[in-house]
Amino acid sequence: VNPLVPGVMPAAPVLALDLGGSRIRAALVRLDGSLAARDEGRTRREAGPAAVIGDIVALLQAVRSRTPADAATRLAGVGIAAPGPLDPAAGRLIDTPNLGPAFRDADLAAPVSQALGLPVAVERDTNVALLGECGFGAARAARNAIYITVSTGVGGAVLADGRVLAGADGLAGEIGHVVLDLDGPPCGCGGRGHLESLSSGTGIARAAAELVAAGAAPGLSAVAAGSPDGLLSARDVAAAEEAGDPEARRVMERAREAFAGAMVGLVNVFNPEVIVVGGSVAHGQGERWLTPARTRVAAEAFRVQAARVRIVPATLGDDVGLVGALGLVACRIPGAVGR
Ligand SMILES: [Zn+2]
Repeated sequence: VNPLVPGVMPAAPVLALDLGGSRIRAALVRLDGSLAARDEGRTRREAGPAAVIGDIVALLQAVRSRTPADAATRLAGVGIAAPGPLDPAAGRLIDTPNLGPAFRDADLAAPVSQALGLPVAVERDTNVALLGECGFGAARAARNAIYITVSTGVGGAVLADGRVLAGADGLAGEIGHVVLDLDGPPCGCGGRGHLESLSSGTGIARAAAELVAAGAAPGLSAVAAGSPDGLLSARDVAAAEEAGDPEARRVMERAREAFAGAMVGLVNVFNPEVIVVGGSVAHGQGERWLTPARTRVAAEAFRVQAARVRIVPATLGDDVGLVGALGLVACRIPGAVGR
């Protein structure tokens, strides 16, 4: 498949769809990156891939039906952002932990293309997000950039020398699964001590639950006892830190420091101009999440790389996977490029 190169633009607007673990969003994306005819629904994972693809088609048809006729007749194609790992050449999911085993090897591009009569490009959500932030967000005009999302998991994408790093199988950029702690906690991928196991919402909640189970966190125990399901979320732990709870603070500091350590490695390996940080955990924490990363990079990364890099919040929010579809379609659908 063609490399993803920020700045390549389609000749006409595109339909965009962002398939997430809990929500499906769709919109028309105009050439200036603005969205129209936005629509969304729940991801009915439990109903299986055929039902979810039916929902995807219905959402895209609804968006197209609300697109002004002059734009609807000359759409450049459909860009779909989906959870990885996926096969962009085949337009197929591979094994997506966020959707479940029923979605293993599920075809995405072909059935959507057939139903809509439009060419479809499928790419991992973080690569599409990186394209979006490079085109219209916090990494505008960068040639070397990294996008990281910290939410339920930790995902990433790398722009190196002006193109999105693909790797041998189109799967490069899984920043959440670098090892930070050889003896660290288990990761959702089956590994141990990965960035995701330490800094994700899941990792934060798990670390807090362990302290509660050990009877070592009275404040967090009280919060857990007061929640409807008796469980702590990362949001609960962050709120408890805000309220002054010392164990919550320890858990959050560990998550922030693990993230900061990973940033040192990324700065040294990739020499990026900018690292764009998105996702609900990082967004909720704001500067509190980014400051330790900047401090640690300044102290530990190589001098020239550390002086070069900016570590900044993502600017496109929930729209990031939709806006990036513009570049995805331009790069991947033959004949879509404008002048
Ligand atoms: Zn992992």
